[in-house]
Amino acid sequence: MIERRLIAVEGIVQGVGFRPYVHSLAMARNLEGYVRNTASGLMIDIQGDCTALDDFVAVLIAAPPPLAMIASVESTAATVRSRAGFSIVESADAAATEGYDGLFLNTPGTRRLTLAPPDIATCRDCLDELFNPDDRRFEYPFINCTQCGPRLTILRSLPYDRPATTMAAFVMCAECRAEYEDPRDRRFHAQPIACANCGPRLWLIETSSPHTERCTVDSLGTAVRALVAGNIVAIKGLGGYHIACDATNRDAVERLRTRKHREAKPLAIMAPDVEGLSLLCDVSSEDRALLESRERPIVLLGKRLYAPDSIESVSPRNAFIGGMLPYTPLHHLLLKAVGRPLVMTSGNLSDDPISFEDDDAIEHLSPIADLILGHDRDIATRCDDSVMRVINATPVFIRRSRGFAPRPIALPLSFPSHTLAMGGHLKNTFCLGRERLAFVSHHIGDLENAAAYRSLEEGIKHYSALAGVTPDTVAHDLHPGYMSTQIAQKLTGLNRIAVQHHHAHIASCMAENGVTEPVIGVAFDGAGLGEDGAIWGGEFLLVDRDGYERVGHLGYVPLPGGEAAVRRPLRMALAHLWAAFDGDIERAGSALAGRAGTQEWSVLAQMLSRQLNSPPTSSAGRLFDAVASLCGIRDDAQFEGQAAMELEAIADHATPRRYPVDVTDSPDGLVADPGSIIRAVASDISSGVPISEISGALHHSLSGMIASIAQTVRDRTGVNRIALSGGVFQNVLLTTLSAAGLQAAGFDVFQHRIVPCNDGGLSLGQAYVVALGSKEA
Ligand code: ZN
Ligand code: ZN
Ligand code: FE
Repeated sequence: MIERRLIAVEGIVQGVGFRPYVHSLAMARNLEGYVRNTASGLMIDIQGDCTALDDFVAVLIAAPPPLAMIASVESTAATVRSRAGFSIVESADAAATEGYDGLFLNTPGTRRLTLAPPDIATCRDCLDELFNPDDRRFEYPFINCTQCGPRLTILRSLPYDRPATTMAAFVMCAECRAEYEDPRDRRFHAQPIACANCGPRLWLIETSSPHTERCTVDSLGTAVRALVAGNIVAIKGLGGYHIACDATNRDAVERLRTRKHREAKPLAIMAPDVEGLSLLCDVSSEDRALLESRERPIVLLGKRLYAPDSIESVSPRNAFIGGMLPYTPLHHLLLKAVGRPLVMTSGNLSDDPISFEDDDAIEHLSPIADLILGHDRDIATRCDDSVMRVINATPVFIRRSRGFAPRPIALPLSFPSHTLAMGGHLKNTFCLGRERLAFVSHHIGDLENAAAYRSLEEGIKHYSALAGVTPDTVAHDLHPGYMSTQIAQKLTGLNRIAVQHHHAHIASCMAENGVTEPVIGVAFDGAGLGEDGAIWGGEFLLVDRDGYERVGHLGYVPLPGGEAAVRRPLRMALAHLWAAFDGDIERAGSALAGRAGTQEWSVLAQMLSRQLNSPPTSSAGRLFDAVASLCGIRDDAQFEGQAAMELEAIADHATPRRYPVDVTDSPDGLVADPGSIIRAVASDISSGVPISEISGALHHSLSGMIASIAQTVRDRTGVNRIALSGGVFQNVLLTTLSAAGLQAAGFDVFQHRIVPCNDGGLSLGQAYVVALGSKEA
């Protein structure tokens, strides 16, 4: 029987080779009609034998093109017409073709769901052409196709067509246009299509010359020679500028650090291939798969024991190196020519957001780089590299950004209405929610910084347009001082929902695991404002659709000087000792054997005893800092978690040593006393126990404490699901031990895989609290 159907497909279906795919599926089944892009996705008007039609739809859903993501398929019957063949209709002509637009276009009040695709690393086919001397795009640094190339970072608006991208400025040559218009060509409707005749070009600036002129002759060759000679080159990438130098040249790396004011934080490296990384790092098969994936994140890799000494300055006193592989044609050309790993760190000063606009980059990166290698394809949206690592054969995120954003996360529940979630203060992302989709943004950064703040405001505007979201609810952190909270408060006419920081952490873990039922949440974190005004961070929360109840936490200690303690683990050591020894400053101080200067010690002692500027905190992150300082690992930290990371790195995993954790039942829930740990640590240190054993014992004791408190909560509530979240769970040893202990105790354990456990995942959690709270669905 002959039928005709109008099939609306929504999701990431534009710019990913969907229409040629539909075309080939239809032709193979003798079906007639056409396919075209609409503002809400794809419209397939198709007719033919009904069995063939069913098969067509089944295959379409089961095996879409690799980069596509189908959010929904809706089919309606229509009257059969006389037709011949199957065609692909241009977006621009669409309105004139058939009259269905009223159904699907972005008229107010109707849905609109074309999703913008993320940026994708250069594909195998394009690489073959890039290095083929007979190809017309031989060594062309902007080669791309339907399966690869820039997407989010060049996109200004939807639908995803060339005029809506930063490629609009380039007029296609006849050859490119022929490929672009041929449905059988692998560049059919590849919006960033270009060649040396018609596309973007490289330019180079020598920052020492007084006239920063853009030279376009042999830019790449000059940059390569400079890198090999040990110079520092800023390089324009997909989502912003990197600063590069020879990673094996210690002088160059040290110079880069000094100029960038980045003394200790690890720098990422890019090697020509996995083999190049293997010389420096241990690369497992899971690491390799991640490194070579089309998203090409930075992957944290274990440093080789016998890695060359010169590499030490890339990640000093750190067991890991962030490694990645080339992901743009320019990277491939560059890395092949220099033939060695390059430092590729984000192009910014210290903690500023990555530079992505040329003028800004030239201004800010000239003092750092000797040369700037740029090009004339604009970046529409700044997007940092994603950072991942493999834990127990499972890839997890440290930063979810390029290659992943703005791909939405499917939720088990619908949002009651369009929702915006502002995220946290550090490592900020925001999230937009509609129906069952959550669009978590690329990494925005630390909002302390004016540029990040602007980037957040612009990002929200841009994503709202991309996702077709007009928020009427905004969720934000409880902390009134967060910039993200302040932006939310400026938005008038929206429902505002303040979500407690650790509630959001646990909800984010629930969201990505599709959990709607109550869970016991363990949020081990640096800092988040609690309902009682204290700084929380070692929390046991019972989370359900109505909200949360705090059923347990680490006991409070003073946080002397508030956030200042983050950069000074020694302060936390003193505060913990002070609390552990009941304010007996003599005994507390003696455990540190005079390591604090007398002046600092007396100031701190006063702060602590008079409770000046010392809010109570239950932070697990600060407990790690305190123990690291007690062990003499470091008293100052250049970035949050540095001391804790170094403490983890030296841990003796196999030590049988354990510390007692006293847990008391209070009206405030179960309170685990960190003092019992601190006293044991202090005694171990004075009796000369190796710090590797102390560190191992701390990890084992905390994971044991987590399992034991969880079991008490389960006994009282009957809840057997447990979610682990918060930045402290970036600690692989603690995560592994805790998950294993909980699984052994029979819990269903949920962990992060899709968003980071740190504050980068907070926005998803805030949004999910809104979805959980709605009584529909
Ligand atoms: Zn390609
Ligand atoms: Zn061309
Ligand atoms: Fe947090």
